[in-house]
Amino acid sequence: MPSPTLIVGAGYAGSVVARELADAGRRVLVIDKRPHVAGNAYDEPDAHGVLVHRYGPHIFHTNGERIWEWLSRFTGWRPYEHRVRGVVDGREYPFPINRDTLNQLYGLDLDEAGAEAFFERVREPRDPVRTSEDVVLNSVGRDLYEKFFLGYTRKQWGLDPSELKAGVAARIPVRTNTDDRYFTDRFQAMPLEGYSRMFANILDHPNISVELGVSFDEVRGRHPFPHIVYTGPIDEYFGHCHGRLPYRSLRFEHEHLPGTPRFQSVGTVNYPNDHAYTRITEFKHLTGQQHAGTSIVREYPQAEGDPYYPVPRVENELLYKRYEALAEKESRVTFVGRLAQYRYYNMDQVVGAALAAARRLLD
Ligand code: FAD
Ligand code: UDP
Repeated sequence: MPSPTLIVGAGYAGSVVARELADAGRRVLVIDKRPHVAGNAYDEPDAHGVLVHRYGPHIFHTNGERIWEWLSRFTGWRPYEHRVRGVVDGREYPFPINRDTLNQLYGLDLDEAGAEAFFERVREPRDPVRTSEDVVLNSVGRDLYEKFFLGYTRKQWGLDPSELKAGVAARIPVRTNTDDRYFTDRFQAMPLEGYSRMFANILDHPNISVELGVSFDEVRGRHPFPHIVYTGPIDEYFGHCHGRLPYRSLRFEHEHLPGTPRFQSVGTVNYPNDHAYTRITEFKHLTGQQHAGTSIVREYPQAEGDPYYPVPRVENELLYKRYEALAEKESRVTFVGRLAQYRYYNMDQVVGAALAAARRLLD
């Protein structure tokens, strides 16, 4: 029997490619150095029976019908629209900034046209819009920038918004209406029985073997794998030969509050200017779980630790390009995923990238 394709990483990138290859009749071996599948989307009941996301809050949203339908083969869904509030000077405001944010913050009574005129008056036009500072000043001006963005971004990235590419802050819309949803995608939902169950279903196929707690280094020389799909950090694959690509890490502080059915008004509350953590998420909002207590997580950004975010800066992307050039020469290896492609991908974008990678492999 021919050797299987080796897939390094059982997150979205690895699991989606594994399933596509398996459905097409190929045998695959999926390994992950962690003791579980699902990558950073992994969820589990905590010691009190509340379903929590070990690596921070994950909310699924997409406009991609094909992506939605693909995942829907493996899970039912709980409709969920995420809402976030930002704390400024001890008060909570709708975030992303919308008309209600302006009215509550400044004691105004603006209608939609009034909100548009307000932004027009306070914005600091920037041309070109290159950095995250440009994006925010260009749309909402300095006061809102300083209240909602500057401190959060410094904490999250350890960098000033002027040092980050425009795409980081451009993830956050600005609204003149009163829509207070974090995302406006067509499909927004949580997997009915959680992410880990969905991943177990994706990987449940006779052509797929999964080995957990196994790192790439341990199997690298084991078989003559006809092909490898690598979803870990690309610089690590090449032994950091061009130097380390910066990734931002987080420390997650999980807490259970017994006898407190509800801790906060919405799924996530952001703290741009106070505390060492960026935000608190209360999982029961996301999952709809009924429980006498509640479980929350605080996210403390840090430079060291597991790589969670590529850091979108011009110099980092240039360094990534050098690794990408090496990757292109590795004809037997496919690099896909947030760490392997050094892109600030959401979950649905990784599914899309993995489906495209699988199609190329099967052509
Ligand atoms: P990963 O999930 O990182 O999977 C890669 C896997 O490879 C890991 O399990 C790792 O252990 C394994 N691996 C790496 N190197 C090796 C090796 N050498 N040997 C063996 N195994 C290895 N996206 C959304 O759409 N909505 C959200 O709300 C959202 N919230 C997020 C919140 C946080 C705090 C973070 C960090 C991310 C969030 N994301 C969210 C992004 C989402 O987590 C990623 O897009 C997605 O999980 C990336 O999947 P992946 O397969 O590329 O990588
Ligand atoms: N951001 C901010 N203030 C906030 C929320 C976000 O300045 O209250 C900026 C910050 O730079 C952050 C980026 O917008 O890193 C993207 O935010 P998002 O919530 O999409 O980040 P993620 O959920 O991926 O950590």
